Amino acid sequence: ILKGKTALVTGSTSGIGLGIAKALAEAGANLVLNGFGDAAAALAEVGRFGTEVRYHGADLGQAQQIAELMGFAGREFGGVDILVNNAGIQHVAPIDAFPPEKWDAVLAINLTAAFHTTRLALPHMKANNWGRIVNIASAHGLVASVNKSAYVAAKHGLVGLTKTVALELAKTGITCNAICPGWVLTPLVAQQIAARAQAKNISVDDAEAELLLEKQPSGAFVTPEQLGALALFLCSNAAAEVRGAAWNMDGGWTAQ
Ligand code: NAD
Repeated sequence: ILKGKTALVTGSTSGIGLGIAKALAEAGANLVLNGFGDAAAALAEVGRFGTEVRYHGADLGQAQQIAELMGFAGREFGGVDILVNNAGIQHVAPIDAFPPEKWDAVLAINLTAAFHTTRLALPHMKANNWGRIVNIASAHGLVASVNKSAYVAAKHGLVGLTKTVALELAKTGITCNAICPGWVLTPLVAQQIAARAQAKNISVDDAEAELLLEKQPSGAFVTPEQLGALALFLCSNAAAEVRGAAWNMDGGWTAQ
């Protein structure tokens, strides 16, 4: 259903972004991948669906590098039809011990980057009167947890940005929505599980179970494949009138 479309998924060398990139490629989209780590492995995984796949290693914390990434997508494919703002980082600390440079980095990568990619992707989308912008927020875009001030502020901000962009484009064929996942077992969360296991002197398995029990009523992790399927739906024509949603997939986290 996405044949002939080009998708950019930021932070797609790992975790949720990689899962979404695979779902979009499987549906026929050409892909621009981005993120740190093993680019060759991501290119191979997403490339196996037979569409055109490229990689650009822009640091999404740097506005200039975001402009270079968007220019690259334009040169390679003529522009971005589907923009998935997924790159994100976490830092956990009480606010009075929160390093200001970590605050700046979390806000830059999790929120400001989406502003830049969106404003730079829109001219091409408007010219075609078709586009899909999918922002990967979080359950923390809807509710808070202790010690995550920067992340919660950035994700609430991303939900706000999503609604504003959706309204500005409401009369066009371009939609903008957010997905709000609960716990997904990716490197970002594995790090938090390891820290918990160490702090409490418990096993990684016990720390994992504790983490889920605390927030996620299902007791099960959400998977990158499930999030890929939801992102694909939001990119479909059936979702043409889903606008400005903050759509949770969180095992019941925010229903409590
Ligand atoms: P991850 O650590 O597995 O992947 C993050 C990706 O972003 C990687 O590809 C990484 O290289 C990239 N990245 C990080 N900093 C970057 C930068 N400065 N420039 C470019 N790329 C950068 O994490 P994940 O769990 O897959 O997270 C993906 C998104 O989903 C994030 O926005 C995260 O906040 C959100 N999210 C995750 C969970 C979860 O439980 N894992 C829950 C809700 C929301």
